[in-house]
Amino acid sequence: MLTQRLQNLQPYTPGEQPKDRPYIKLNANENPYPPSPQVTSAINKLLTDNPMAPALYPDPDSTVLRTAVARMLNSTGGVLCRTIEKDGKCIPASQDILPQQITADMIFTGNGSDEVLSFLFYAFFEQDRPIVLPQFTYSFYPVYASYYRIPLCTVPLLQDMQLNIPALLDAAHRTHSSIILANPNAPTALGITRQQVRTLLNNCPPGQIVAVDEAYVDFGGESCLPLLAEYDNLIIIRTFSKSFSLAGMRLGYAVAQPHLIQALTTVKNSFNHFPCDVIAQTAGIAACNDTAYYVQTAKRIVLTRNNFTTFLRSSGWQTFDSQTNFLFTCKPPYKGHAVYEYIKQKGILIRHFATDGIENYIRITIGTDSQMEQLQDCLKNIPSADQLLL
Ligand SMILES: *Cc1c(COP(=O)(O)O)cnc(C)c1O
Repeated sequence: MLTQRLQNLQPYTPGEQPKDRPYIKLNANENPYPPSPQVTSAINKLLTDNPMAPALYPDPDSTVLRTAVARMLNSTGGVLCRTIEKDGKCIPASQDILPQQITADMIFTGNGSDEVLSFLFYAFFEQDRPIVLPQFTYSFYPVYASYYRIPLCTVPLLQDMQLNIPALLDAAHRTHSSIILANPNAPTALGITRQQVRTLLNNCPPGQIVAVDEAYVDFGGESCLPLLAEYDNLIIIRTFSKSFSLAGMRLGYAVAQPHLIQALTTVKNSFNHFPCDVIAQTAGIAACNDTAYYVQTAKRIVLTRNNFTTFLRSSGWQTFDSQTNFLFTCKPPYKGHAVYEYIKQKGILIRHFATDGIENYIRITIGTDSQMEQLQDCLKNIPSADQLLL
């Protein structure tokens, strides 16, 4: 009964969402803080003032939301943790000021950035040539590639897990392909500079896309938003799931020049006319209108992250400099899986990966200070590596 293509699918494995035991969840890079109170009251208000809202189809084009997203990006420069407070308002740090205002026709919204990525794969990546992507990146990219039967060209990282920009370009030229990467990257937590993305854009094969997934950029990366004015083949994917505390609402977006946004809209209208429901649109608009709140939570997470990095390093954990809301760390000879099991049994979920080359690492989402203190206690009391294996 099943099609061949279904039998070939290898679905994505997300961080577990346990139903039985109240674990401290540091495994899915969710935000430990609730959404802005303005989001909660906007949803309540929608349902009380407009009881018919759930009965009617939402705006298929999320027009008000897209306008709100554009305004939020212009007013923050696209990196929340780096904004500066001035006269009670936040303004972009000087290096993040956008040379050209982002407009609503440069925004596409979807049911989580995962769906936006799916549409992007469909719209821009051919089946007759591979997509170029770095090794050890967001594991949904290979899943979509297999779903759409697009071949992959995986480019190894450098020794220190940094991206190999010349090798990525080399691969793109050899196969005349587009490039996709996450910046900052998951699960390594490392970012590349805007100048490095510029190098990719300046040297990629003509007519090919460079897609940059900025899911974590609000926690300290360099956003490529300022490059949109110059490059009409750059597409940036972002999400409300991490820095905006709305993973449960499923809202993500792409930012690019209007002709690329139109292509995504065509895919959407051929698949699901209404990917963003009325409550999600309401929540997203309210979130964009309270950037001050999210600046505060992003800055708090960065502080907690930096303190936890110091703790990890001081106790022998080799930890990458993170530009995200998670840490990627290892302590030989500990095995990732063994550490994960030990910590889980103490009531805290983290993530480890079975992938060869990173199997001894763990990925820890930054929670509240008190959650991180509990994890710190676990790690301080961890048995020796040979005892853990028993
Ligand atoms: C979390 C994450 C996403 C998915 O975000 P959703 O908007 O929740 O679908 C996309 N890309 C990367 C790199 C992520 O880590």
